[in-house]
Amino acid sequence: MALATRGEPVYGEPTADGWRRWDPHRSKLGAMLELGLDTGFEAGDGVLYLGAASGTTVSHVADVAGPTYAVEFAPRPVRDLLTVCESRPNLFPLLADARQPASYGHVVEANLDVIVQDVATTGQATVALENARFLAPDGRLLLSIKARSEDVTREPSAVFEEALETLESSYEVLGTRKLDPFHEDHLAVVATPRA
Ligand code: SAM
Repeated sequence: MALATRGEPVYGEPTADGWRRWDPHRSKLGAMLELGLDTGFEAGDGVLYLGAASGTTVSHVADVAGPTYAVEFAPRPVRDLLTVCESRPNLFPLLADARQPASYGHVVEANLDVIVQDVATTGQATVALENARFLAPDGRLLLSIKARSEDVTREPSAVFEEALETLESSYEVLGTRKLDPFHEDHLAVVATPRA
C-alpha cells in the first residue's frame, strides 16, 4: 500500500481519485513514514515546518494536519510555495530564517503538536533547540539531519552523534532511523521536549 494524501498535486506525483502519492524519495518525512518510524503525527495536528522549500513535503503535511506554518528563508522557492498554499487555507508560508524564531514568534501559535525540520544547513540540532519553544510539552520534533550539511569531511556517524548530544540538552530522543535507501547519509530523529 502506498503512502498518499488528498489534495491538489504539487510536484508531478501520481494521482488517483483525489489522492496524491507521497514520494519517500522526494521527502524525508515521507521516508520516515514509509520506514515505519513512530512519528506520532496525527490528522489535525498543529505543525511548524522548518525548511519548507517549494512545498513538496509540507503540502502533504497540510493535506492531513491542522494549522501548518511553513518557514523558508530562500525567496525563490517561497514563490512556488505560495501557489501550493492557494488550495490549502490551513498552510501559512513564512519567508523567515529558522535561526531567528523571534522573527515569526508573533505569528506562529504556541503549544504545537509537531515540528518537522528539514533545513539541510549547518547547526541543524541548534535550529531544533531554538524552535523548541513552539512545541507543546508532549509535542514531537521530527528532525532530519543531513550529515554532509554539517561537515562533508566527517564520518556521518560522528556528525549524528554530536547532533544527538546537542539535542539532548532540550529534548528526549524517542527514536532514530537512517533514511537509506531513500536518502543517503540522513538520520531521522523523533524527540519530545524535556520536562
Ligand atoms: N523540506 C523540503 C521538502 O521536503 O519539500 C526540502 C527542504 S531542502 C532539503 C532544505 C531547505 O531548507 C532549503 O529550501 C533551504 O533554503 C532551507 N533552509 C536552510 N536553512 C534555512 C534557515 N536557516 N531558515 C529557513 N530555511 C532554511
